[in-house]
Order: sequence, then C-alpha cells, then structure tokens
Amino acid sequence: MTKRVLLLISDTGGGHRSAANAIAAALSEIDSPCTFECRIEDVAAHCSFPLTQLGRGYSMALRYAPPVYGALYHATNGRRRYRALVRFCEPLYRERLRDLFIDYTPDVIVSIHPLLNHAALRARTDAHMQDVPIVTVITDLGNVHESWLTPQSDAVAVPAREVYERALSRAIPPSRLFVLGHPIHPRFDDVTGTKAQLREQLGLPQEAFVVMLMAGGEGGGKLLPTALALSRARLPIHLVVISGRNETLRQRLVDAAVGVPTPMQVLGFTEKVPEFMHAVDLLVTKAGPGTLAEANAAQLPIVVYDYIPGQERGNVDFVRRNDLGTVAIRGTAEVVRAVRTLLRSPERLEQIRRNQAAIAPQRSSRQIAALIANMANRGAPRLQAVASL
Ligand code: UDP
Repeated sequence: MTKRVLLLISDTGGGHRSAANAIAAALSEIDSPCTFECRIEDVAAHCSFPLTQLGRGYSMALRYAPPVYGALYHATNGRRRYRALVRFCEPLYRERLRDLFIDYTPDVIVSIHPLLNHAALRARTDAHMQDVPIVTVITDLGNVHESWLTPQSDAVAVPAREVYERALSRAIPPSRLFVLGHPIHPRFDDVTGTKAQLREQLGLPQEAFVVMLMAGGEGGGKLLPTALALSRARLPIHLVVISGRNETLRQRLVDAAVGVPTPMQVLGFTEKVPEFMHAVDLLVTKAGPGTLAEANAAQLPIVVYDYIPGQERGNVDFVRRNDLGTVAIRGTAEVVRAVRTLLRSPERLEQIRRNQAAIAPQRSSRQIAALIANMANRGAPRLQAVASL
C-alpha cells in the first residue's frame, strides 16, 4: 500500500527545503508494509500575487534591508496581529491550496513553514478533508514566531525543550507535542570514516586547523567580508567557504582567494555538508537553524557571525545559552578574534563539543518520519495513540 505525504514549504532561504528533503529521505527508508510517496510543494507557487513573490521578496529584503525584514517579523509576531495577517493573505492562497489537496489526496499533510500552518488548516477544511492529519514541523529555535503555533495541528514536532515550553504557553496540548529535534538529513547519522579519511576524500589538508564558513543555502549577507577578513588575518588556518546557491558570490570569492595569504577553498552549493562537518575543526556561520543543528550533531564548535533579524535571534540565544560556541555578531574583527581564541584553546573546543553532544538531535528526521508515518496510517482522530511514540 502507498501512503501519500504532502510536505508544504516555501523557498525562503534553504532551510525549509533541506528539512523537507531530510524528512522525505527518512520516510523512504521506513521498513513497513506501506511505502511513502512524498511530494514537496513550494506553496508560493500556488498563490496569487504578491505571495508568488514571497521567496524573491525574502531574498531581496535580506540582501538590501535586513532591518525592514526584522521590523515586519516583529510587527506580525503577536496573536491578534498575526490573525490580521492571516485574514489578509487567505484570499491569495485559499482556492489553489484547496485544489492542490483535492488533486493529490494526501494521507497526511506536513507543514514545514511558519506561514503555512494556518493556510493548511483552512485549505483542509475547504477540501472537506478533516480526517487527513496535519503535522507541523517547527524548524526555528527559541521564542518562535506566533505563526508556528497552531493548537489545531494534529501533531507538532519541536526541535528543543524551550520551543516545547513556548508551544505549551500557546495552548498546544502536550499530547500533540513531540520534542524530536530539528530534522537534519539521515546522511548526518550515516557518515562513516575517520576525520583523516574524510579529509582525504574532500581534498582537505591533514594537519591544518580547518575553518568552514557558511551562510545557509542561499549564501550572501556578510559572507564575503567575513571570508575576506579571515583570509587576511594571517591566522594559521585553512579556510573552506561554502557560498551555497549564490553563484555571483562564489565567483567573487574564487577571484579573492588568489590574492590572500590564507589558503581558501571556495565551493558553491554542495551535497557534502555532512562529510565537511565531520572533517573540519570549526564552523563560522549565520545562525540558520538547520546549519546549527547539523553542527551540533557533528559536534563541530560554532562561531555565529550573523543572523536574520527577528527570525534567527532565538537561534543566537540558543547558541549562547547552551554554550555551543562563540557569538561574534558585532563585525568581522570580532569574528577574527573569536577564531583566533578558539584555535588556541583545545580545552575550550572540547568543552563545546561536550555541550553539543548533550543537546544534539539524535536520528531526528527518522523520528519525525516515524511520527508522520504513524499519523498517515492512523489518521487525525486517533491522535492519542500516536502521542505515546
Ligand atoms: N546547505 C547545503 N549545501 C550548501 C549550503 C547549505 O546542503 O552548499 C544546507 C545546510 O546544510 C542546511 C541548509 O542548507 O541544511 C541551510 O539551512 P539553514 O536553516 O541553516 O539556513 P537558511 O538557508 O534557511 O537561511
């Protein structure tokens, strides 16, 4: 028997798609009489203007006016204010999302984007599919945005205890809440080989202190000035810069790598993040929740150099509170200082790795996939049974 799983995302950043891919990969491995067919839908593609421009608008806002994005985030982050936004947006997606549901007839609907939880609930009612369960998978940390918190979802997978507390405070019943970790790809659990073997495979030097620089799936933000500052600081490091899908940025970094004193390896979007994270010594990154969770799973100490205002502030606090590395968000000089200090402090790095091991998600995608599979098999009304997973 085949069960259909509809995963709803929006391509704002790279994290939601990565999370959906991770869950789909874990569902495809489930050993049961059922097979799971997954369809990942960028919901903006099913909306009317201006929601069709959501991904583009998000990228532009973050590139040219991050404070404006932060202001919008805060302006909509309150129960009443968010309800007003939902009322405004509903006519822009309602019919098309309903038609998508009717066309695909899913056995379970999974929302992996804050703006899609209410949308999915509304479209489910419109499609008369109340018996199809909706599972929300929250990918942000800390004091998450109001839009993630829908008590009507049939199950809510949360990445950490503090998000669990926030969900409880918004009246999501404990029986619907599952603390399963951020959905990181099963490939992270399956990386084999020693650090030396991985370095050989990836063309990294064996003896160097390797620092990897990332800025999420799309690249951008302060990645270029941070890479330049680290590469010119004459630190005894080998630098790997992953620029994601931003091809212009990759080219600029490749050009810059020629004239700097520090060896700098530049990669565009790579599928080998799991292997790199197990092969390098330190990660310097924007506070994307996916990248942070992956680094914790790989026990790779973190320096946070940037964050998306509003949305990723909770992730920065999470790094601080759990002592998972150093927060250096006040400019490139602070980042250089943080890397210099850490590379001279093996004991400190060891302490951070211990902290990461204590909170890292274990088999998170596989656990989330098990929850979704259970929901697909049992349907919305049998929720109580699922809660004991
Ligand atoms: N990523 C990847 N290859 C790359 C760059 C990034 O697979 O070359 C993945 C990364 O491992 C993570 C995701 O993209 O899973 C980025 O998600 P995150 O939540 O950190 O940031 P966002 O892109 O949403 O801002």
